Amino acid sequence: MTEAVFAAEALLPGGWARDVRIVVDGAMIASVMDGATPKAGDTRAEALIPGMPNLHSHTFQRAMAGLTERRGPSADSFWTWRDLMYRFALSLTPEEVQAIAEMACVEMLETGFTRLGEFHYLHHAADGRRHANPAEMSHRIIAAAEVTGIHLTLLPVFYAHSNFGGAAPSESQRRFINDVDSYGELFARAKAGIRRPLDRIGIAPHSLRAATDEENARLLEVHPDGPVHVHIAEQMREVEDCVSWSGQRPVERLLSQFDVNGRWCLIHATHLTEAERRGIVASGAVAGLCPVTEANLGDGLFPAREFLAEGGRFGIGSDSNVEISVAEELKILEYGQRLAHRLRNVLTTGESSTGGTLLRGALEGGAQALGAPEAALSAGAPADMVALTDRAGLTSAGDRVLDRWVFGADVAVADVWVGGAHVVTGGRHRERERIAAGFARTMKRLAEG
Ligand SMILES: [Zn+2]
Repeated sequence: MTEAVFAAEALLPGGWARDVRIVVDGAMIASVMDGATPKAGDTRAEALIPGMPNLHSHTFQRAMAGLTERRGPSADSFWTWRDLMYRFALSLTPEEVQAIAEMACVEMLETGFTRLGEFHYLHHAADGRRHANPAEMSHRIIAAAEVTGIHLTLLPVFYAHSNFGGAAPSESQRRFINDVDSYGELFARAKAGIRRPLDRIGIAPHSLRAATDEENARLLEVHPDGPVHVHIAEQMREVEDCVSWSGQRPVERLLSQFDVNGRWCLIHATHLTEAERRGIVASGAVAGLCPVTEANLGDGLFPAREFLAEGGRFGIGSDSNVEISVAEELKILEYGQRLAHRLRNVLTTGESSTGGTLLRGALEGGAQALGAPEAALSAGAPADMVALTDRAGLTSAGDRVLDRWVFGADVAVADVWVGGAHVVTGGRHRERERIAAGFARTMKRLAEG
């Protein structure tokens, strides 16, 4: 199927261009011409940008959004949130996991995410037994991505222990647990379920808490290429536990034990010494930042000003999916730094736009982290495109539309194409109604317990 999009402005690899006509052939961009004239039948767009990779998500947590915002009997923290999340996770059926994932994917697409990096650890049945197909739950995630049209990088999680040093897992972690061999089987079955040529798979040792150094070494041996994602240094208690177990901090230990390189994505990496920060930059790994979730969970602030100034690579993830929004992730990333440093426009250099700098960085780092083709509007790239519209009717001028999208309220996503398929029109996903109804039924069942 050939389709053409004519944009008043488009963000091309060389910068913004005017009157851009993009011809799509199947899943890919066939040609890009600027200074063009529109033809009959072209879809019109105001400002066209590449689709954003979402490098870290747990889709099932979407169903908890807004339900954990009251204080418990003692001081509330990440760890009390995690207890609630476990109780919730333990009750979900495969059908419910898919219904929730579909809703999350619809919302991701409507905000301009075109690839889901799913850090997937909810593997087994509610009683902890393996499904007849051990990758049943992974296949539910694949199905949700296929139904909604979002590209997928599936990251089946290896999870074996409750704390550093190979501590036995707790009963409430029973749906997550594998040994290296059962993980290998699950991974192979999950991989066999991936049918679309642009989808990817990678490995995800959950954290240094949940996987020992020996187990991680074996996983890396069995999977010598593809993305490697790990949660790291999100919480101070995790840092302290790691130090008392090994004498090293989590990132310090990871960098000293493994050949961390451009395949790796370090999720959160919130609590860093200067040496750890420089170590990540030098490794070429991507810092997987999830600013909305990190703020919601009270994790702390990633040292983004220094990390970006040193040339560190980063991408954004919607993680707990408490709120799914490309613009919010970029805005909170910048606002955290403004509050910490009491300055404005911290995460940019020279006189360039903050929204533009953050968007370009997250596009590049996100694609790297998810093993995906470069996110760019250029011939030969996947046709992953997001059209922004300015409801205030301002004539857009380059990066200003990105600043108005990230920091203001007038610019919104109008259309989204993924692999050439026009999945969002007028801000709404083509199957929003049906999927939202399924999600509502699931929420009702969960509320009734
Ligand atoms: Zn996470």
